[in-house]
Amino acid sequence: MPQPTPQTPAHIPIHIPHPLTIAMPTTASSLQPPASSLFDATIPAGDGFRAEIPAGARFRITDLEGNQAVDTLFFCLPDTRERYDATATLQAQRRVYLTTGSRLISSRGRTMLTITDDTCGRHDTLGGACACETNQVRYSLDKRHMHACRETFLLQISDGRYGLGKRDCAHNLNFFMNVPVTPEGGLTFADGISAPGRFVEMRAETDVLVLISNCPQLNNPCNGWNPTPVRVQAWS
Ligand SMILES: [Zn+2]
Repeated sequence: MPQPTPQTPAHIPIHIPHPLTIAMPTTASSLQPPASSLFDATIPAGDGFRAEIPAGARFRITDLEGNQAVDTLFFCLPDTRERYDATATLQAQRRVYLTTGSRLISSRGRTMLTITDDTCGRHDTLGGACACETNQVRYSLDKRHMHACRETFLLQISDGRYGLGKRDCAHNLNFFMNVPVTPEGGLTFADGISAPGRFVEMRAETDVLVLISNCPQLNNPCNGWNPTPVRVQAWS
């Protein structure tokens, strides 16, 4: 896919602020994307989303109402057999949480995306996606029929367009989700640290396909017991 052309004309001087002047907190309203929008959508609570993001484009997810877990998978294009690899990503950055500067590494060792801005500050790599089976085991037998992220992922790929199937729903990352690692090495689903309007933004380093399940979970505090919409935007 062709590289995007620069949007700034060569004759306009580019102002580079002193480092001390760029430490102000960024907000969604202060960083509106330019007009070259690739998509701009709101994902309802509990629903899914799928889109292609070309290399060089920016991709932003905004937590519109706060404390919403956004389960996300990335695949390389055109060969979707190469995909986001949680283990490789953790090894590359030597930490379990993601934030500005984190690189999302593929199953073939390439950087797929780089997180370039983050007003939440921490995103989970360990909690994975909720499923009907885990809802049943973790909570109670009657939770089995509640909608879960794994079902949303499967619905998003059910048309077969990208050659993806059940086996491709591997370990995902969870934007805005708070899953602290305990001193004993365990995991806990804790109340969120995000808030209305916080966002995470990344740059695609190669052509990617993004799959999102805007988590419908009602049985733990990962969504503040109240799943809410998120906004997804991309621009070149
Ligand atoms: Zn979920």
